[in-house]
Amino acid sequence: MNILVIGSGGREHAIIRKLKESPKTEKLWCASGNGGIAADAECVAINAMDIDGVVDFAKKNAVDLVFVAPDDPLAAGMVDALEKEGIRAFGPRANAAIIESSKVFSKNLMKKYGIPTADYAVFSDPKEVVEYVEKRGKFPVVIKADGLALGKGVIIAQNFDEAKDAVHTIMEDKVFGASGNNVVVEEFLTGPEVSVLAFTDGKTLRPMVSSKDHKRALDGDKGLNTGGMGTISPNPYYTNEIADECMKTIFLPTVKAMQAEGRPFKGCLYFGLMLTPDGPKVIEYNARFGDPETQVVLPRLKTDFVDVINAVIDEKLDELEIEWIPEACACVVMASGGYPQSYPKGLEITGLDENGQAEGVTVYHAGTKLENGKLLTNGGRVLGVTATAKTLDEALERAYAAVEKIHFDGAHYRHDIGKTK
Ligand code: ATP
Repeated sequence: MNILVIGSGGREHAIIRKLKESPKTEKLWCASGNGGIAADAECVAINAMDIDGVVDFAKKNAVDLVFVAPDDPLAAGMVDALEKEGIRAFGPRANAAIIESSKVFSKNLMKKYGIPTADYAVFSDPKEVVEYVEKRGKFPVVIKADGLALGKGVIIAQNFDEAKDAVHTIMEDKVFGASGNNVVVEEFLTGPEVSVLAFTDGKTLRPMVSSKDHKRALDGDKGLNTGGMGTISPNPYYTNEIADECMKTIFLPTVKAMQAEGRPFKGCLYFGLMLTPDGPKVIEYNARFGDPETQVVLPRLKTDFVDVINAVIDEKLDELEIEWIPEACACVVMASGGYPQSYPKGLEITGLDENGQAEGVTVYHAGTKLENGKLLTNGGRVLGVTATAKTLDEALERAYAAVEKIHFDGAHYRHDIGKTK
């Protein structure tokens, strides 16, 4: 099969690496890729949001399958546009991707179908939110922009003043644009967080192995929220009993709910869960593979990835058993100095071989580019150094040993991946 992957981060690198393992994969392109992906696929200069450009490329190059990895093109209807032209595409249509792109939609869906989540209220008028928060009088309180906001649209306000500032930032300053036209005010939940990705063809759902993200920039879960500083799989808090409960109360009801709404979800559905004292609850849905969760989940997939993708597209997931490697996997993200705020770009990366890899680990590239044969930094999160081993401690040891040999000026990473709640 000739396959085009849309996206340019560590997640896409992990997807491409897995696709490359399949004997069914013939040609691989990535739009637009990065400095490390270039060693595994042909990178083409098409923006991930250029739907016409992607459709056109797929038609001209006899692409058999387009794998749409990021949220924006899914929400904008890239899969719909490809299907209209008879091109196979992996990912939900826009009417199902809304489960991520509108928090108002997803919260109302959960309420309607009795799927456990934090109590909430929706507002379109900033004055009303402030009044509500004041009257409610319970802190912390969680304030979320309705739409996509690059993972930054969630503010946990510790007191009334912080809540007022959050409403002002989202609804009046409109720092997230139209994504802040509506806000969701949510009850603050506590407990360990778990990420579960699942393949679904709209009817059948097959959960992948669990994982845990580390969102804060600094050790000890301190500092600002980031896109993710590292991941481990499996998640030690996610027991078989909890998995069974999630399947019954969250995963299957979600698939059925989307079906009942006339929005069958096909692709990878991501469940962001919190294991609260009252049981597992949904924090958020994503309509796609998570980043950097994919970097620790896909290496553990034993079944041919192309077979899984085809079963999802052809709605035959019920006929496929999906197998996983019973090993642990750890990913340590090396980020640019200053990330998630401003950071320099174009710094030389050393300590990697000519394919951008290092011994004993897999290095998934995110913000990197090749220039005159040199590998340079080109984003906030630069590399995801990933190791698989019999135990989590061994996997972490290997990943960190490799991280210490890789260098770029100002590089920072967390030293406690896999060690915090
Ligand atoms: P992303 O898509 O990047 O994961 P997002 O903008 O969709 O982020 P959420 O996942 O909804 O945001 O929230 C981000 C983080 O905020 C969560 O991982 C969790 O740590 C915290 N959070 C969100 N909702 C709540 C809540 N109700 N109670 C406690 N913490 C919460």
